[in-house]
Amino acid sequence: MHEFAIAQDIISSLEKNLPEDFAKITSIDIETGAFSGIVTDSLVFGLETIFTEKQINSVEINIKKIEAKAVCECGNSYNLEDIFELCPKCGSAVRELNSGTEISVKSVNIKEDNNE
Ligand SMILES: [Zn+2]
Repeated sequence: MHEFAIAQDIISSLEKNLPEDFAKITSIDIETGAFSGIVTDSLVFGLETIFTEKQINSVEINIKKIEAKAVCECGNSYNLEDIFELCPKCGSAVRELNSGTEISVKSVNIKEDNNE
């Protein structure tokens, strides 16, 4: 399952980048491009499963889909939500995609710890 592999990548990079705070994560915000091929529910499920396996419970996972940006051969730039959309100005499908395939972790919230 594609999303599960991505969830594992996200979690291992969090563990690497936040060795002290990993267990204190309360929520994460992720952005996925419209063309990343990610099924949001599956990614959430994958992340929840791994967090639970690591005994980190009730992490809030927010996933936001980002529209892709394209520049048409006519010079018009536009946003598109799916790959079959055509240029709204000239109807062409010839374009350069500038974004839409990325997956990124935008922010991670960590529980406040009064003992430190
Ligand atoms: Zn066009």
